[in-house]
Amino acid sequence: MTHPSLSDVVSCLSDYDPNALPVAQARQIIREFITPVNAVEKVAIRSALERVLAADVISPIDVPSHDNSAMDGYALRSTDLDPQAAVALRVLGTAYAGRAYDGPVGSGECVRIMTGAVMPDGCDTVVPQEFTVDGSDTSVSVPAGVVRAGDNRRFRGEDLAAGKPALSKGKIVRPADLGLLASLGIAEVPVQRRLRVAFFSTGDELRSVGETLDQGCVYDSNRYTLYGMLTRLGCDIIDMGVIKDDPASLEAAFRSACENADAVITSGGVSVGAADYTKQMMAELGDVTFWKIGMRPGRPMAFGKIASNGKSAYLFGLPGNPVAVMVTFYFFARDALLHMMGAQVPPLPLSRVISQSAIRKKPGRTEYQRGILSIGEDGRQQVRITGSQGSGILRSMSDANCMVVLHHEQGSVSAGDAVDVLLFEGLI
Ligand code: AMP
Ligand code: MG
Repeated sequence: MTHPSLSDVVSCLSDYDPNALPVAQARQIIREFITPVNAVEKVAIRSALERVLAADVISPIDVPSHDNSAMDGYALRSTDLDPQAAVALRVLGTAYAGRAYDGPVGSGECVRIMTGAVMPDGCDTVVPQEFTVDGSDTSVSVPAGVVRAGDNRRFRGEDLAAGKPALSKGKIVRPADLGLLASLGIAEVPVQRRLRVAFFSTGDELRSVGETLDQGCVYDSNRYTLYGMLTRLGCDIIDMGVIKDDPASLEAAFRSACENADAVITSGGVSVGAADYTKQMMAELGDVTFWKIGMRPGRPMAFGKIASNGKSAYLFGLPGNPVAVMVTFYFFARDALLHMMGAQVPPLPLSRVISQSAIRKKPGRTEYQRGILSIGEDGRQQVRITGSQGSGILRSMSDANCMVVLHHEQGSVSAGDAVDVLLFEGLI
């Protein structure tokens, strides 16, 4: 299958307008244009944390491998139970976790059993110790109605059945998955190789941390937010620093990035007014389109694929403003990079929450306002906006714990209306 060009992808859209592109359409184009990087490596189980599984993991064994007890108590035959009266049972011995009770259990008999111990032959039910009376080494009494047939018995294979997929390809390995792999006795797993992402900042006004801040200059913060976001996504990063706005430096930077990475992320130099060479170089080196997206912050963005010396890389030319960089990264690049990694990417979970104040919003663009989610006096979740929402005010991102997503068609919000929010942090 040959790779589609951007014009092939956009030709399928009836109302494509690069100068007024809705967020959903931009996401769709990116998704259709991007293909996963297929390179697999085997890693030891602990090193698989946060990596993308490259194949289904089939369970080689049943977990648990035997029917066993979920409680400390007595294993018995449910046919011995009497719904009207207590029954006295003879205790034959004890089954420990890892040390089974061998031998049959007949009518009127039971075995003292610990959690995780194999169910003795003939027993189908465990009565928890605290429900029994008059227990001794030789006998115990089970009152009427404290246990039903089959209670407190864990079945062989109920967690994972041999031959069935335990984890599926594309899953990002979380702590529970590490435990699950260990429970199967698996020591090594195939994962996708890490994605290599090169990034640099463009703009003659930018100074790097450690340099003196000349008149009219700003410190380059975008390389640091990008470093953080890419690292958290599990990418291998190539930080190429600040590139001066001259054609030779830019060409060298784009070529080197493209030859060494799967994806290249730049910030700055893609807006309309920019009197610089960034856009020109992007266009010269590949199949790149320049968008004005119906969104705020983050209107200008370049996307495509660049090539140099037989190597190619996807390109995300993010805007320069620090909040716009983060928003376009999270809502366009993140999804695309995960897709390149071969990860299953479920849609980001939005929650409906009451807005504490009115928010002005024009229909016809998507707005990502930075919010603080809290619990109101009524115990319900509520959200307020973090002060000034200017695309250069990075503090609005730092103070926020969520993004308020005001959708394309949506208009202004009144205080007390429900809005969609996307939380920054989850449990895992
Ligand atoms: P541009 O998109 O290049 O026109 O930049 C838009 C705004 O973002 C300008 O105020 C730039 O100074 C600022 N900016 C661009 N790149 C960075 C960066 N790496 N760190 C901080 N601010 C930046
Ligand atoms: Mg610039």
